Amino acid sequence: MQMEQTEFDVIVVGGGMVGASLAIALAPLPLRIAVIEPFDPRLNGVPQPSYDDRSTAIANGSQQILETIGVWAGMRQDATAISDIHISDRGHFGIGRISAAEEKVPALGYVVPNRVIGRSLWAALESFDNIRMFCPARLESLLDEDDSVRVALIDEDGDTVNLQGRLVAAADGAQSVVRKLLGIDATVWDYGQTAIISNVTTEKPHRNVAYERFTAHGPMAVLPMSEGRSALVWTVPSEQAEEILQLSDRQILDRLQELFGYRLGHWRKIGARVSYPLSMTKATEQTRHRVAIIGNAAHGLHPIAGQGFNLSLRDVAGLAEVIAGADDPGDPQALEKYRRWRAGDQARVMSFTDALVRVFGNPLTSVRVVRNLALLMFDLLPGAKSLLARHTMGRGGDLPRLARGVPLQ
Ligand SMILES: Cc1cc2nc3c(=O)[nH]c(=O)nc-3n(C[C@H](O)[C@H](O)[C@H](O)COP(=O)(O)OP(=O)(O)OC[C@H]3O[C@@H](n4cnc5c(N)ncnc54)[C@H](O)[C@@H]3O)c2cc1C
Repeated sequence: MQMEQTEFDVIVVGGGMVGASLAIALAPLPLRIAVIEPFDPRLNGVPQPSYDDRSTAIANGSQQILETIGVWAGMRQDATAISDIHISDRGHFGIGRISAAEEKVPALGYVVPNRVIGRSLWAALESFDNIRMFCPARLESLLDEDDSVRVALIDEDGDTVNLQGRLVAAADGAQSVVRKLLGIDATVWDYGQTAIISNVTTEKPHRNVAYERFTAHGPMAVLPMSEGRSALVWTVPSEQAEEILQLSDRQILDRLQELFGYRLGHWRKIGARVSYPLSMTKATEQTRHRVAIIGNAAHGLHPIAGQGFNLSLRDVAGLAEVIAGADDPGDPQALEKYRRWRAGDQARVMSFTDALVRVFGNPLTSVRVVRNLALLMFDLLPGAKSLLARHTMGRGGDLPRLARGVPLQ
């Protein structure tokens, strides 16, 4: 068995959207960085869980972070701008609208296929001399020592490789192995809902409008994409998901047409469908001695408001900034500062997303009346609208430097 031992300043576990972004954000600093990832997104046929068939709505503020860390150029060509967000409740009068023109920004956000995000992030990872990729490899064990953390990973030949780092950043997803190894629990709220995602072609062009439509069974988002297509995120009760996935293209298009109406004319074509069971998860701790837990490993959200990656990217920017200001990247005081700094934004986004799911998923007439009034009021009250728009765009609160376009060095 080959035994290799290497020392790093930061070991990032997970090269998905969040782990890769963190490694790239840290790369301009004088740090030795390791990234451990089991699935290389550049290989065809590899079931990469982060860079899959989904598309991600990237908020205006997140685009700024991606631009500042130098990876936006690799995505720009395949990114579709969102100029307006249109929120409606099926069969009811209230409609909410947010527009880039009113908010005086070029775009509220962008829709980018996850595979494109992966391509750009991985090209950047490879371009830095101080990032060492361990891929394919997966973390197996972790041992906390005074001034470092020792981790063991298994590579593709089944060999064990031992690494030592001053900080371990766990970005290994909702089923985080790091969390389990450290005995950190996660609170899970199962919504009993499943998201079905696909790409659709409609008769009328989307004109860069993102639609959020609430129906009695769950919300659906129809996001503008390249080549006139739209990305569908359709939330259905989990017990109906299997039956819906078995429907023919025509049957599913008819059902979607009925729920969405004719704003985009006839629904013409739908691609392959993929499903994701939905829950909200929250790790009971996000920092431990020389460990930071980030991304889905720290908090997983319902995709109703498209906030999961956006929130995590602000966490990445915050963590990178705190590390840049510390002599030791695993300094417990720096980690505590990060935890306290990011707690407010995380709590706000999690409770906002959860409230949307509960209020708009509630079939009671009284609740429907109130939420329609709220949508109407929201459309008529520019102050409230702008505040929400700023937060939805990732432009609210105490923003990290990278989100304001200021590099760390
Ligand atoms: C249907 C759907 C739509 C969404 N739409 C949006 C949206 O529009 N906007 C938005 O902001 N967010 C959206 N999200 C949320 C977004 O996808 C997540 O926030 C994001 O994927 C989190 O990335 P991550 O890197 O933390 O985790 P993951 O994507 O789960 O990546 C974890 C990585 O860790 C690796 N890993 C696992 N185990 C190990 C191990 N033992 N050792 C090493 N590596 C390991 C995995 O291979 C993977 O690459 C959506 C989510 C869903 C389900």
